[in-house]
Amino acid sequence: MINFNVPPMTGKELIYLEKAIKSHKICGDGEFTKRCSKWLEEYTKSEKVLLTTSCTHATELAAILADIKPGDEVIMPSYTFVSTADAFVLRGAKIIFVDIRPDTMNIDEKLIENAVTDRTRAIVPVHYAGVSCDMDEICAIAKKHNLYVIEDAAQGVMSTYKGKALGTFGNYGCYSFHETKNLSMGEGGAILIRDKEDVLKAEIIREKGTNRSQFFRGEIDKYTWMEAGSSYLPSELNVAYLYAQLEASEKIYNDRMKTWNLYYESLKELEERGIIELPVIPDGCVHNAHMFYIKTKDLSERTDLIFHLKGKNINCVFHYIPLHSSPAGRKYGEFYGEDRYTTKESERLMRLPLYYGLEESEAEYISKSIKEFYRLYKRF
Ligand SMILES: *Cc1c(COP(=O)(O)O)cnc(C)c1O
Repeated sequence: MINFNVPPMTGKELIYLEKAIKSHKICGDGEFTKRCSKWLEEYTKSEKVLLTTSCTHATELAAILADIKPGDEVIMPSYTFVSTADAFVLRGAKIIFVDIRPDTMNIDEKLIENAVTDRTRAIVPVHYAGVSCDMDEICAIAKKHNLYVIEDAAQGVMSTYKGKALGTFGNYGCYSFHETKNLSMGEGGAILIRDKEDVLKAEIIREKGTNRSQFFRGEIDKYTWMEAGSSYLPSELNVAYLYAQLEASEKIYNDRMKTWNLYYESLKELEERGIIELPVIPDGCVHNAHMFYIKTKDLSERTDLIFHLKGKNINCVFHYIPLHSSPAGRKYGEFYGEDRYTTKESERLMRLPLYYGLEESEAEYISKSIKEFYRLYKRF
């Protein structure tokens, strides 16, 4: 069976893990955390990067920093992972779902402004498949209406928009290093902070509401409880794994991009004949080969194709069930305007296996099997 995903492992992970264990520092904010944060700050040119236990927690931290309160409204796409909404629902916010663009599956920036009310506090763009939303437009709307921008860049590590790293446009950007993402530490994430004045508060919330981070830097002589906070520090054990991945990030990126391009080139023929659709990368966006998807004619064709590929020992999967149609989404949110594309496009989308180390011959076999499906059943 060709798996849909295999967690990346590049060689140095075990060495660093052993090093972390032998240093007798396995809780948070040790040497590896320092190195990873610095690496990410330099790579993304962020004011500050704090590692967290997940992207979900990074988003929760962002929601606390933005002081989201009960009754506030937060605008986001419905086509996203539950965490995007959860972080704000936990603060009592109402989620306003806005339709997506069919080309990138990202929130349609042209529909956002109409959804803004005097209760709106934040816009949460999600960079699906590591392809950027229209950040110029989104940041302009946020500025005009004095709203926070919190980027769900869980899938956007190493992607850029007009040359700038995803996660650095909004007040806060949230990364994921879950095992399904390009760079991994099992479970983990990071928050990117744009403005200096938010850094101290973020450190406090992340450290159980204490100023322990300042204490460890020797800036104060004892630490104390300053704010309501939580525990969002990842263990050095996980971070040691991530450090190996960051060091090998170019290798991982190139390997994934090779597979992505192979899929694109070999399936282009089906797109040119109007049989399927392939991902669109708008001008100004450089993606990170996080995901390769195709769009079938409709749900029933997708179901048949997934079944056909299972028979060929290939595990292809669909993706999000739109949040607004879920029980929690109905309870905590509301779809603003017409659902023109969210449901329809989500039903057509199928993801292909894509991970570090997927063999070229496997990727070729997968595209061949997709073409075979259309030849056999769709008479192309
Ligand atoms: C993976 C993902 C998350 C959650 O990341 P975790 O690190 O598992 O919490 C959130 N949003 C999107 C869009 C994701 O793809």
